[in-house]
Amino acid sequence: MRLVMLGAPGAGKGTQADRLAERYGVPHVSTGDLFRAHFRQNTELGQTARRYMQEGHLVPDDVTEAMVWQRLGEADTHRGYILDGFPRTLPQAEHFDAALSAANQRLSGVFHVEVDRAVLQSRLTGRRSCPECKATYHVQFDPPSVADVCDQCGARLVQREDDRSETVARRLEVYHTETEPLVQYYARQGLLRTVDGNQSMDEVTASLAEQLALIGLAHD
Ligand code: AMP
Repeated sequence: MRLVMLGAPGAGKGTQADRLAERYGVPHVSTGDLFRAHFRQNTELGQTARRYMQEGHLVPDDVTEAMVWQRLGEADTHRGYILDGFPRTLPQAEHFDAALSAANQRLSGVFHVEVDRAVLQSRLTGRRSCPECKATYHVQFDPPSVADVCDQCGARLVQREDDRSETVARRLEVYHTETEPLVQYYARQGLLRTVDGNQSMDEVTASLAEQLALIGLAHD
């Protein structure tokens, strides 16, 4: 299965992609996580990406695509993948389509997790994440049992640099202008399935499972 998770920053698509990846035994490929891994390892690509990410801008398409093609060429993707955060612009989507056709592959579906803007803003600014195991929390909606400490591995939680309120506003704007057109793009291809992301995480997972069953990808 090859799925794309589409949705604004804070829509919860990363959490849902994780759950789907575990359920279907395919990797969750998040471009944001790949960039963050690069800058933790202090690679040149990581340094380049960080400058854009800190400001809430997109990393240029050529840089992003080169990283994605490399990741999708790794052995663990042979049964498919759940893409989270890619494609994020029309050129990325078009280049991705061309790459899929060249490999004689097609997408199984594109899931649009739709969330109201006010909800997104508060989800993002309250988000905290574990730098070690990547677990995510929310100061109000999903706090850890001990403030600022990861329940799963005990590391100190951090706020992502780009989850501060000024940057969040820009990321939401960039989503609106650059990424939202992909909803129509994939709708025209008959691949789009929309779920209501304002619901609880478990309800969203259930909605996704229903939609997957409709396209013949039920798990059990
Ligand atoms: P995310 O973790 O998906 O919210 O991504 C964090 C940041 O990484 C974004 O705000 C962008 O700066 C960058 N990024 C992630 N995916 C892409 C992409 N497909 N194209 C360009 N920039 C991206």
